[in-house]
Amino acid sequence: MSIIALAGNPNSGKTTVFNALTGTNQHVGNWPGVTVEKKEGRLKYNSKEYIIVDLPGTYSLGANSEDEVVARDFIIKENPDVIINVVDATNIERNLYLTTQLLEMGAKVIVALNMMDEAKKNNIHIDIDKLSEKLGTPVVETIASKGEGMEELIQKSIHTAKIEKSCKTNISYGNNIDKEVQVLKDNLEKKYSTSKYPSDWIAIKLLEGDEYVFNTVGINEDHNFSKLIKDSVDSITNSSIEPELAIVDSRYKFINSIIKESVSKPDTTEETTSDRIDKVLTNKWLGIPIFALIMFVMFQATFTIGEDLLGEFVAGGIESLGEFIGVFLTNVNAPAWLIAFISDGLFQGVGAVLEFIPLIFVLYTFMGILEDSGYMARAAYIMDRLMRALGLHGKTFVSMLVGFGCNVPGVMSTRTLENKKDRMIAILINPFMSCGAKLPIYLMFIAAFFPEHGGIVLFSIYALGIIIALIMGKLFSKTLFKDEPSYFIMELPPYRIPTFKGVMRNAWEKVSSFIKKAGTIIFGVVTVLWILAVLPLGVEPYSQGSILGKIGTFVSPIFKPAGFGNWEASVGLFAGIVAKEAVVATLGMVHAGVDNGTKLVTALQQAFTPLSAISFMVMTLLYTPCAATLGTIKRETNSVKWTLFVALYTFLIGWVSATLIYQIGGLLGFS
Ligand code: GDP
Ligand code: MG
Repeated sequence: MSIIALAGNPNSGKTTVFNALTGTNQHVGNWPGVTVEKKEGRLKYNSKEYIIVDLPGTYSLGANSEDEVVARDFIIKENPDVIINVVDATNIERNLYLTTQLLEMGAKVIVALNMMDEAKKNNIHIDIDKLSEKLGTPVVETIASKGEGMEELIQKSIHTAKIEKSCKTNISYGNNIDKEVQVLKDNLEKKYSTSKYPSDWIAIKLLEGDEYVFNTVGINEDHNFSKLIKDSVDSITNSSIEPELAIVDSRYKFINSIIKESVSKPDTTEETTSDRIDKVLTNKWLGIPIFALIMFVMFQATFTIGEDLLGEFVAGGIESLGEFIGVFLTNVNAPAWLIAFISDGLFQGVGAVLEFIPLIFVLYTFMGILEDSGYMARAAYIMDRLMRALGLHGKTFVSMLVGFGCNVPGVMSTRTLENKKDRMIAILINPFMSCGAKLPIYLMFIAAFFPEHGGIVLFSIYALGIIIALIMGKLFSKTLFKDEPSYFIMELPPYRIPTFKGVMRNAWEKVSSFIKKAGTIIFGVVTVLWILAVLPLGVEPYSQGSILGKIGTFVSPIFKPAGFGNWEASVGLFAGIVAKEAVVATLGMVHAGVDNGTKLVTALQQAFTPLSAISFMVMTLLYTPCAATLGTIKRETNSVKWTLFVALYTFLIGWVSATLIYQIGGLLGFS
C-alpha cells in the first residue's frame, strides 16, 4: 500500500489536512522506540487504499529535537511514496525552510499551499506555476479548514507517488561547500553502504555537525573519516564562515530567490487584526490577569453548562440503567453476589466515573476553542517572562498546558526542550498540572460541599497546581540542576476562528479515551477492590472488617493530620495511583455499598467536613501521578531513580500541603 506522509510547520494546518484526508479512519500509536504520538489514517480513493502518516510538526529537519529526528527518520527509513508538505501561505518564507530540507533529502514532495483564504485577505499574491517550477514540485492551493482543494491535492499526490523520479532540486551552497560535499560524498560511497541515506544529504549533515547522523551512519568509529570531516569543516571555515551557518544562509538565499519571483506582498507592514488583539491580550500588565480571567470563566461555564444542562441527563440515565439491571437480575434469580457486584461495584464505581462525561466534554470543548483560536500559544507567551524570572524555560509552560489534558503527553511534550536541565525540570513539575482524570474527584466534592461555588473552587485548584509547579521549578533550577538558562522565541500564530468540526473532534477524542479507560483499567481496579471489599466471606461487606477495610485502616493514620483519616479515603488514594479516575470509582463503591444505595454525595458529607474535603482535593491534585505518567517519566528520563523521586516527592508535597491546609484551617476555626 502506498504511504503518503504529511510534513509541515506547527500551525500550518497539517492536522486539518490529515483529518480531511482520513475522515474518522484514524489510529493513534507511538513511533517505534519512542513515545512521541504517531497519527496514522487511511484514505480510500478510487477503490484504492493509502496510508496517511501525520509527521510531527517541525520548522526544520535538523537534530534539534526528538520530533525532528522522528520526522526525518521516517522519511529516510520508510521512504514514503510522497510527502505532502503543508505550507502556510501567509508565512511562506519561513515555511519553505522545511521544504528545502525535504528537497535536500531527495524526498518526493508535493506542496499543499494552505491558508489561501488568509493569504488573499492579506493581499498576498502567489504565482503558483512559478513557485512550482522553481521548487520543482507540484503545488496545490488549499483551504483545509473548508475542505477546499482537497480533491486536487489527493489526485496530484497519488499521481506524484506513481512517478519514478524524485523531485530533487539542486540547491547550491556556494562553491567551496559544494566542493567539500562532493569530497565527503565520494568517500562515503566508497566506504559505507548508505543505500538508505542519500549520500549528499549525509555529507551536508556532517558538515552541519549533526551528531545524530554522525553516530547513526557508523562513521564515529572511523578516525580517518572523522579527520576528513574536520578538514572539510576547517577549510570552509577558513575561507568564509562556519559551514553550519553558511548552509542555513544558502537555504535562505534559495528561498528568497524563489519568493522574489513568485510572491508579491503589500509593502506596508500594516497592523493586522491579530496584532491589535494582541496589544490587549498579551499586554505586559494585563496579560496574566486576562489569562486568569479566561480560565475562571471557562471553569465557571464548564460547571454551569456541564452540570445543569448535561449532568442530570447522563447521571439519571446511568441510575435508571442500574435500577433496571438490578430488577432484571433479581427477576431472573441471579446469584446475590453477582447482583451486588453489578449494582455496588460496577454501577456505583465505574458509573460514578462515567457521570462526569458531560463536564469533561464541555471543559475540553472550551480548551479546544482556546487552542484552535491561537490563544493557548499566547498563554505560553504571556507566561514566558514570569518563567524566565523563575529560571525556567518558556516552553515549560507549553508542556504544563498540555498536562491539563493528561500528564502523559504533557511529559512527552517536554521533548521540545533542547537543554537537559530545562527538560528535567519540566518533567518533574508536570504532575502538578491537574489532568482530566482528576476532574471527577473535584466535581464530586464540589457537589457535596460547595455546590454554589463550583467555578471558583475548580479555578483555585488548577491555579494552585500551576503555582506549586512554578515554586518547585524554581527550587529545582536553584538546587538540583545548575546550568545556563536558554531562551526561545515564541512563534505566535494569527488568531483564527476555530472550526466546529475540529473542536468537536478534539473533545470527543478526550471523552472516548475517558470511556475506554473506564471500561478497562477502572473496571479492573473496581473488580479487584470489590473482591477485597466483600472478603473474607462472612464479614460485613464494605466494612472495616473486610480485607480492603483492613488495608485502608492500616494506612489511614498517615492521613489523620490532613483530616481524612477514614479508611475509605486511604483506599481511594492508593487506587488513584493506578489511575486517577479510580479515586471516585473506589469511593463510590465502598460508600454506596455501606449505606445501601445512599447517594455518594450524602455519604461524603458524612465522611468529610468542608475543610477536610478541601485538603483531600489538594492531596489528589498534588500527590503521586498515575502509573501511566510514571511509566512515561521512566521512559523519557530513562532513570528509575528519577521516577521514584517523582513518585515520592509529589506524595510528600501533597501530604504536606493537605496537612497545612487542614491544620491552619482548623486553627482559624474552619473545621
Ligand atoms: P497543525 O498545527 O499544523 O496541525 O495545524 P491545525 O490543523 O491544528 O490548524 C491550526 C488552525 O488553523 C486551526 O484552527 C485550523 O482550523 C486552522 N486552519 C487550518 N487550515 C486553514 C485554512 O486553510 N484557512 C484558515 N483560515 N484556517 C485554517
Ligand atoms: Mg497538529
